[in-house]
Amino acid sequence: MNERDERTLGAGGDGSGEEKEQEYEKICYLCRRPESKAGSMIVMPGNLCLCHDCLQKTFDSVMGNGVDMSKVDLSQLSNMPFRNMNFSIPPAGSEEHGAALGARQQVKKRKKKTGPEFELKDIPAPHVIKRRLDDYVIGQERAKKVVSVAVYNHYKRVYAEDLKAAQADQGQKPGEDPDDVRIEKSNILMIGPTGSGKTYLVKTLARLLDVPLAIADATSLTEAGYIGDDIESVVSKLLAAAGNDVSRAEHGIIFIDEIDKIAKKKETTTRDVSGESVQQELLKMLEGSVVEVPVGSNQKNALSPMVSVSTDNILFICGGAFPDMENIIRERLAKTSSMGFGAALKDRFEEDQNLLSHVTNEDLRAFGMIPEFLGRLPVVVTLEKLTEDMLVRILKEPKNAILKQYVKLLEMDEVKLVFEDEALRWIAGEALKRETGARALRAILEEYMLDIMYEIPKDPSIGSVVITRPYLEKRGGPLIQMRG
Ligand code: ADP
Repeated sequence: MNERDERTLGAGGDGSGEEKEQEYEKICYLCRRPESKAGSMIVMPGNLCLCHDCLQKTFDSVMGNGVDMSKVDLSQLSNMPFRNMNFSIPPAGSEEHGAALGARQQVKKRKKKTGPEFELKDIPAPHVIKRRLDDYVIGQERAKKVVSVAVYNHYKRVYAEDLKAAQADQGQKPGEDPDDVRIEKSNILMIGPTGSGKTYLVKTLARLLDVPLAIADATSLTEAGYIGDDIESVVSKLLAAAGNDVSRAEHGIIFIDEIDKIAKKKETTTRDVSGESVQQELLKMLEGSVVEVPVGSNQKNALSPMVSVSTDNILFICGGAFPDMENIIRERLAKTSSMGFGAALKDRFEEDQNLLSHVTNEDLRAFGMIPEFLGRLPVVVTLEKLTEDMLVRILKEPKNAILKQYVKLLEMDEVKLVFEDEALRWIAGEALKRETGARALRAILEEYMLDIMYEIPKDPSIGSVVITRPYLEKRGGPLIQMRG
């Protein structure tokens, strides 16, 4: 036992316990803060010291698990200094009940299933999903189509699984299915350059379908036992997004970004903790398993109540930019087409702007993704690099386009804001140079709109402002027209 532990437990091994007790401060067994910082300690049986905060948290989590603390006799604890704790919980369902448990720690219990959570007719058809995505996501036609079909199939599968579970819950035999076809999960791998709309597509999808969404970064995930978030933390994020409603979370979407960063490193002799092993750990979750996750926290500790969530019906979408993938594809194509009439094809591929769309599992494996992992992501979709034309459209066309937002803001000052087409082309051109896709658009606009947004409200006689290319190129000012 080291010195710190000795002090913590407050028991001297050499018979001078009393002296030591005066010499050393008591230290909380859980948070390790000394008495001078955490306030007076409560000494539990076995000389275990706990500070008031930790004891309170412990009680809160115990109460969260449905234990009636009013039946526990706290007076049995020695030197209990805080006797004013309110352990009576208001009736379930009341507002005070939530507050008493700490809203973050309330979990909506899973009900026995009486039927699927939704009807088949509630799942929008692929063309409907795609049409709704069109209102927000510009271009990426094939990606939107593939995702719409995958999502439609996914929720049909969820319906079938829910139906089976409900029949089982009610003690019925599952309906007769002569072929017993089990639809497999259609998790998605999304490949596309930075800022091409991967995250945006998934966010829009979750919003349109009204399902909870959790976004995690693969680089922050580590194998259990290492510093970083363990794999299950993504499920607790989803549970939080679902308002701690387990059934809702189990029908949600998890987006794991930067998946290319956990590729197997080439030619390493040391153990690869960040890449391959994280892919290995993700396998089970992608396929469908029951994970124990803490409620109201993404860290497992003694104070958070745990709940089990099945990932069987959660749709996983993994996204990444996969830099250098184009070279891998080019190399493969060059190998297969270096003879005979394939040579003509080779030239075509050299020129191809969207080489990524030819990606195969073989290329992904060459990149460092393990075959088992790829096996769990049967739908592979690529997003195109945004062109100048697409960037111009992104500026003005989506339902919540950035330009529309500025127009609306100035409309509130009764000022009409107009962007010349040439100005939009200039902005798109600048964004292309920054190589961060559509993400650069907002940054550029904010730079130039700052002065406009600052100066215009100063003068109430201004009626309209036209943003021109010379203004953006700093060769002139915006065109301003007065009222009347
Ligand atoms: P990434 O592919 O790196 O995940 P994001 O989805 O985060 O890129 O895109 C950044 C921002 O750019 C989004 O929030 C969105 O506003 C805009 N954007 C990107 N692509 C598109 C697109 N195809 N249509 C409309 N907006 C887009």
